[in-house]
Amino acid sequence: MTLLFDPQLPIVAATTEGRGFPVRRLFCIGRNYAAHAREMGKDPGREPPFFFTKWAETVVPSGATIAYPAETQNFHYEAELVVAVGKAGSSIQPAEARDHVYGYATGLDMTRRDLQLEARDKGRPWDTGKNVEQSAPLGLIHPASEVGHLRRGRIALTVNGEVKQDADLAELIWDVPETVAYVSRFYQLEPGDLIYTGTPAGVGPVKEGDTIVVSIAGLSDCSIVIGPAARD
Ligand code: MN
Repeated sequence: MTLLFDPQLPIVAATTEGRGFPVRRLFCIGRNYAAHAREMGKDPGREPPFFFTKWAETVVPSGATIAYPAETQNFHYEAELVVAVGKAGSSIQPAEARDHVYGYATGLDMTRRDLQLEARDKGRPWDTGKNVEQSAPLGLIHPASEVGHLRRGRIALTVNGEVKQDADLAELIWDVPETVAYVSRFYQLEPGDLIYTGTPAGVGPVKEGDTIVVSIAGLSDCSIVIGPAARD
């Protein structure tokens, strides 16, 4: 059958191996650092984790200039450790979860904070707040065979060189094996899936011209520039 229009090309993330990582789906864990949960006005008790999703096409590579999105007055950065899934599985046990991880990267969960909070407080879906075009910048994916499995290490974010977020991966409420296991209870994880593991405290707004850099010990930085508005 001929197609009415050209299909979307796969979104391919770069790895330090030189081979592309075709991106399938994004799962994003919410409120996974206690200090961030508190700054969002929530009690960081050890409730079950929760997550939302983004389209694969929200991924943009480190180095990109991303448009300031429409329909927000409060576009925020969130520095995150990203887990790249390399092996399919469902109902994965935490003890086996690392076997399903291809590697790790730095990333950003860019957020229309005004729309996210309005949706949250009205009990509506978070899509317009979170599933935003170009909202999932991603650094180089380092295979676990190269960097090991990340349990601790500094995670930091700067805006125009000024430190805004500064924490340690050891502060994750739900660690990588637990989050992989949790998501796999609801969805069959597949190679190409990415899990954004949540952001530390210190989230805040960006404006046109800002340079945002995420650093995680042992990984390549993820850096973006905020460009002009997407539409007028
Ligand atoms: Mn996030």
